Formats: sequence, structure tokens, C-alpha cells
Amino acid sequence: MLAWEFLMPVKIIYGAGSVEKLESVIDSLGLKKGILVSDKFLVDSGMAQKIVEYSNGKLVEVFSDIVPNPTVDSVDECAKIIREKNLEFAVALGGGSSLDCAKAACAIAKSNDSIRDYHTGGKVLSKSTAIPLIAVPTTAGTGSEVTKVAVLSDPSKNMKAPMGSPVLYAKIALVDSKLTLSVPKSVTASTGLDVLSHALGAFWNKHHQPICDAFALASTRLVFQNVEKVYNEPNNLEARDNMMLASLLAGLAFGTPGTTAPHACSFPLTNDYHLPHGEACAFTLDYFLRLNADVEGGRLHKLAQDCGFKDAFAMADELLRLKKAMGMKTTLREAGVKEEDIENLANHSTHPNIKNNPVDMDHAALLKMYKALY
Ligand code: NAD
Repeated sequence: MLAWEFLMPVKIIYGAGSVEKLESVIDSLGLKKGILVSDKFLVDSGMAQKIVEYSNGKLVEVFSDIVPNPTVDSVDECAKIIREKNLEFAVALGGGSSLDCAKAACAIAKSNDSIRDYHTGGKVLSKSTAIPLIAVPTTAGTGSEVTKVAVLSDPSKNMKAPMGSPVLYAKIALVDSKLTLSVPKSVTASTGLDVLSHALGAFWNKHHQPICDAFALASTRLVFQNVEKVYNEPNNLEARDNMMLASLLAGLAFGTPGTTAPHACSFPLTNDYHLPHGEACAFTLDYFLRLNADVEGGRLHKLAQDCGFKDAFAMADELLRLKKAMGMKTTLREAGVKEEDIENLANHSTHPNIKNNPVDMDHAALLKMYKALY
């Protein structure tokens, strides 16, 4: 018999157009003076300004010094502004990069600490230093709006790593699929397969549990039904909405058991070879789907059948086809990795979440995989 726990304290407000209700959402928390945390592109595109208008004067600052794979320095800079201006809350608008930067900055806002103290310094986040966050995702990818994770990069250590704490949960996730209509094709593909890597990783995770399995199945089905459609028809709001829901469900799915081997392997592919996060996760995803296919009495084959495939291998074939159809890299050679770098890549694919994979991945198994993917 399984024993398990499930906690998800984020209130979810879901619906196309729901971001227009921002002022009443802020009012529901009794807040008056906050900061919008977004990235430069969304500021330049005018989306951030719209959000400021929807807040009706309650967002009094904008911080947008955020790059993909947000850095600890951006987090510290954002927290500094919150402290100096004595702000009560934040709204995060953007993909996972903006959301994660805001989550981390909010968590340390009422302290004088640097996020480095927690990211790599071993200090434990405390509720007493946190201010509330409303998370507004603009990509259908990370599910960060409902997870207790912030993934940060520390350029001084050439490392990208997640940090996890209940203190990092947003208070409210305001999820509006209309915001994803402007996402460019390559980001649509990469984020769409990030969703799948969360859903599949949650399902095959050694620590999987029934509530998260249900979210993972629903999410996996939605991705296979919609990701190529949304790639080819960017203005299809129904397909965009289905992917937004898939992303949210996948966030709920992996939030408890965590991510697994494809994520561990994604970190060096992003750090050293600059593959976007979702593409880096998807890079090994079909390999792991085949490798993990027969675990625990074939429950992955059952998942695949519930999604309309003959078995997990057929699902992996379709995933590889999708990656090629959406212009993603499928060999290390295409990703710019030299054959002599494979050893190094395997050495860096060792984040502890690799231990969540149901098939053990030691150094030899990583080398075998990367040679096959060369
Ligand atoms: P991102 O936030 O890095 O954004 C990618 C690009 O898309 C940026 O240039 C951004 O400006 C642009 N963009 C975002 N929304 C747009 C829109 N509506 N229209 C046009 N352009 C838009 O990408 P992401 O994939 O959402 O986030 C990736 C980050 O999230 C990585 O650092 C990853 O490690 C992290 N992540 C976090 C979690 C979590 O639970 N916290 C989970 C998975 C991934």
C-alpha cells in the first residue's frame, strides 16, 4: 500500500482574460503597494504596462532586469528595490524566469540577506522574511505558478540549480491563456515539451503518488493533443488554453515528487551548450521514456495507452517525431557538443534529482546514453 502526502497552498484563478481582474485579486489579499517583476521583452512589448493598468495604481514599481535562466544577482537586485521602496507584495509576469526571480526575491524581501545564502549557502528560507506574490504565467511551460521551486543560475559558479521551499509558493496563481498568444514558435515548442518532461517525470518518479499521477496523465494527454497544433497555429486560443492547462496540471504533478533524470541532464546542456530549458529537458526525454518503459509492471505502457498509444515505445516514437517537426535538436552533434566533451557532460549530469529516476543512472549509464544521442 502506498503512503503519501499532498500539499498545494496556492489559490488558482484560471481563465482566458482573467488577468483583467488583477485589481480585485490584489484587493482580496488586502494589499496596496507592490512591484511588477517581469522581463525586458514583456516590458518592451507593452504587456507589462497593461498589467500595471489592470492593477489600478497598486503596482508602483517595475523590475525587469531578468534574463532566461535568472541569476542570483537579479534576485538580489529585485529584493533590494522591494526593501528600499518598502513594497508589500509582487506580481510576477512572464515565463518561468520572471516567476522564479520574483518567488526568490519575495522570499527574502524582509531580510537583508542575499539569495546566495540560501541557493548555495545552506541557509533555510523562513516565512517570516517573505512577502506575498501573485504569479501570472505568460508561457505554457514551467508550472512555476504552483510549485515551491525557483531555479536560479549563479554565473560566478557556472551553475544552474533549483531551490525548493514552501516559502517559495505564490499566494495566488492568476492563469490567463490569452497571455500566451504572442509566444514565438521556438519558445512554444520548448516550453510545450517542458510540460511533458514535468508530467512524465512526475509519473515515473520513484516517489510518484496517486494524486500527482492523475495530474500527470491529464497533462500528458493534453500535450500530445495540442502541442503541435499550437506550434502550427499560434493564434488558436483553444489549443493555447489546453497547453496552459497542461502546464498547470504538470506543475501540480511534479511539485510533490520532483523532477527526474531529464532535468538533471538538462542543466549542463543549458549551462554549457545554451539549449533553452524546455528543449534541454526534451533532449533526453524520449530516451528515458524508452529506458523507463517497463518499470513497475509496465505502468508507463498503461499511461501511454490512456493517451491513445500502443505502448510507451510508440509514445517515445511520437515524441521524437514531434521534436523534429518542431525544429528541436535531437543529437548532441546538432547541439554543438563535441564527442570528446561527452565525458564532461556525463560528469555534470548529476543533480540529485537524477536519483528520482526509476532506473538508476550511474556514470556508465549516462555515457552510454550520450554516446547513443551523439
Ligand atoms: P523564460 O521565462 O525564460 O522565457 C523565454 C523567452 O520567452 C523570454 O525571452 C521571454 O521574454 C519570452 N516570453 C515569455 N512569455 C512571452 C509571451 N507571452 N510572448 C512572447 N514572448 C514571451 O522561459 P520559460 O521556459 O517559461 O522558463 C524557463 C525557466 O523556468 C528556466 O530557468 C527553468 O529552469 C525554470 N523552471 C522553473 C520551474 C519551477 O517550478 N520554478 C519549473 C520548470 C522550469
